[in-house]
Amino acid sequence: MAPRQFSTVLAVLSISAAAIALAGCAPEPERSPQTDTGDSPAPTASREPSADGSGAPESAASEFDASAHSLDDPASIWVVTNKTRPLQPIDFAPDDLVMPAGVENEFAQPLREPAARAVESLVAAAASAGIDVRIISAYRDYATQVALYDGYVSRDGADAADTYSARPGHSEHQTGLVVDFDDHGECYLAGCFGDTPAGVWLAEHAAEHGFIVRYPDGKQDVTGFMPEPWHFRYVGTELAAEMRESGVTTLEEFFGLPSAPRYVP
Ligand SMILES: [Zn+2]
Repeated sequence: MAPRQFSTVLAVLSISAAAIALAGCAPEPERSPQTDTGDSPAPTASREPSADGSGAPESAASEFDASAHSLDDPASIWVVTNKTRPLQPIDFAPDDLVMPAGVENEFAQPLREPAARAVESLVAAAASAGIDVRIISAYRDYATQVALYDGYVSRDGADAADTYSARPGHSEHQTGLVVDFDDHGECYLAGCFGDTPAGVWLAEHAAEHGFIVRYPDGKQDVTGFMPEPWHFRYVGTELAAEMRESGVTTLEEFFGLPSAPRYVP
């Protein structure tokens, strides 16, 4: 983590602030984002498990291969991590972190190479459409999440901390495949970002560049996290397109994985 951000985090941890709801994100809590603002449930669709019992969905309309990448390997672009699926090993760190080029990056955090290239194309496309966005969080390592989470627990207790901060090893940001966006507006890490022109544009076009909205409205009981319209997960263009086409909005539902509303004690 960048020294600037780390010092910011430590400063924030030392003060008493209102509880925030940045399930997977929560690196810059001084911005006091609002909590649960999901007011328009995302469209839902159900997929039948495959007949072979693998749990992978069948795709009758295309040749999409739902077993093309591992869901368990932390280095897989399809890894699914949530409150019941910690990264294995829990202190996993990617080996292909790079800085996205030509993209404003508030805390100079890297991404895995394929995600970085995809962010570059996404942000360039946004700019062409008159949408100005910047990165406000990307890769965070295990040690950073330990410091963040332990600080929140010390301040608010574990029950409260679990409502807004991912436990170490459970944060998607540790995969290096996640980016949080902002538009320099008033909805920094806040639910209202989804209603801004930038949030609307990103939700509509992210899939073209391989990203999904990982924590959509109305899916808290599946993902374990409140809506985070700023949090985009790279999964590659094939899966993003397939999810878009199928109408299935969460990785858990798409791959037939159990819902993960809470941690297993
Ligand atoms: Zn995030």
